[in-house]
Amino acid sequence: MKIAVIGTGYVGLVTGTCLAETGNNVICVDIVEDKINKMKSGILPIYEPGLDILFHRNIEQGRLNFTTNLADAIKDAVIIFLALPTPPGGDGKADLSYVLGAAKDIANLITDYKVIVTKSTVPVGTADKVKAVFKENTLIDVDVVSNPEFLREGVAVEDFMKPDRVVVGSSSEKARKLMEELYGPYVRSGNPVIFMDERSSELTKYAANSFLATKITFMNEVANLCELVGADVDMVRKGIGSDARIGKRFLFPGIGYGGSCFPKDVQALAMSSKEYDYSFKILDAVMDVNQTQKLKIVEKMIKYYNGDLSGKKFALWGLAFKPETDDIREAPALYIIDELTKAGAEVVAYDPEAMENVKKMKGDVLSFVENPYDALKDADALIIATEWQLFRNPDFDLMEKNLKSKVIFDGRNLYDLHKMIDLGYYYNSIGRATVE
Ligand code: NAD
Repeated sequence: MKIAVIGTGYVGLVTGTCLAETGNNVICVDIVEDKINKMKSGILPIYEPGLDILFHRNIEQGRLNFTTNLADAIKDAVIIFLALPTPPGGDGKADLSYVLGAAKDIANLITDYKVIVTKSTVPVGTADKVKAVFKENTLIDVDVVSNPEFLREGVAVEDFMKPDRVVVGSSSEKARKLMEELYGPYVRSGNPVIFMDERSSELTKYAANSFLATKITFMNEVANLCELVGADVDMVRKGIGSDARIGKRFLFPGIGYGGSCFPKDVQALAMSSKEYDYSFKILDAVMDVNQTQKLKIVEKMIKYYNGDLSGKKFALWGLAFKPETDDIREAPALYIIDELTKAGAEVVAYDPEAMENVKKMKGDVLSFVENPYDALKDADALIIATEWQLFRNPDFDLMEKNLKSKVIFDGRNLYDLHKMIDLGYYYNSIGRATVE
């Protein structure tokens, strides 16, 4: 099939590349010329494990192309995916200007039938708005499909190639058939393509992300309580996770959820519920708790240093909002950096993939090193903000040699408490006893 993907970010590029991998002809469009030029010369603009092999293979075999020219991209395409940003608007609701703007541009260019597929996360009713844009701007027949994306950054290729499910919201039989054909190769093991109406499909995505954010937040609250009552959250986690109704996944406490999706999607669902005079109370609590949780470590540090962080030097391991990505959108580490530097502390950071992105945003307030152990040199403490695998089994001898004081504030519970006792650290983690 001939496909155009509008918006070549984390979702658009993975979608385009993975669709090319099963033999489709894909053209990816973006308005950022530099990004398109890089991709044309074989450079991936994002870090996503496993994407490079598919990206290069499909470019070489001529199935994956890039352009800034929307007209060229959509001319022969049967299916046009919209993988555009839907950031929070001033009112907290999703800003639909990218999606509706692109719909208008497409409507003014098309000369034959197209299926317009919204991959972006959009509020209930957006498919109707997209349909209205086409009605106002062209006489050409189109079908509008809601096809929310559930991929996780860090395992995006695997998630796209072998999805747990594909959700397709459409009232057109013709569009459903095309989508079924397109997704067939990805669900061969029997996972479902679930067809539904557009509104249910749009809400499914928000409900999924909000549920997951709630699950994380619930565990963060359990962890906070564990610290107060002297319980161990790891034990509680195992205890409840063994119940099949609860499940083992997404129960790890930490310093709050971040990323480009959970924060904005929880907020957008809460705000759009209000439009229907419904107060989604649990989501207000989730947002509130998450905001506090992101600064949990700083709160603990202020207490440890008797309210004065000025002149202290801290090593920060991890900047990305989660491991295996260079994405720093809403990363807890950014909030920690702001608070520590505001309090007069110096921060030296290391992250395997996300340092360039943080440099662009905050290069003037902290420094960066190319090796995690260099960050520890003369540092008063180590802070762990992202659970990259390479931090799990560090060289503790070198760590001890470099640190000024054997103090660790771990926002991701990477180390065994007994080990930290043996090594003689002050070790403060989330929902577990403090090792002193
Ligand atoms: P992104 O910011 O990484 O990518 C969006 C891209 O669209 C950018 O490259 C931008 O330059 C481009 N763009 C903006 N306006 C354009 C236009 N008029 N024409 C062509 N290109 C244009 O965003 P993302 O993370 O890929 O997210 C896209 C959507 O998918 C959002 O709605 C998001 O909520 C949703 N989503 C994201 C993820 C994720 O893990 N990142 C997962 C599921 C769903």
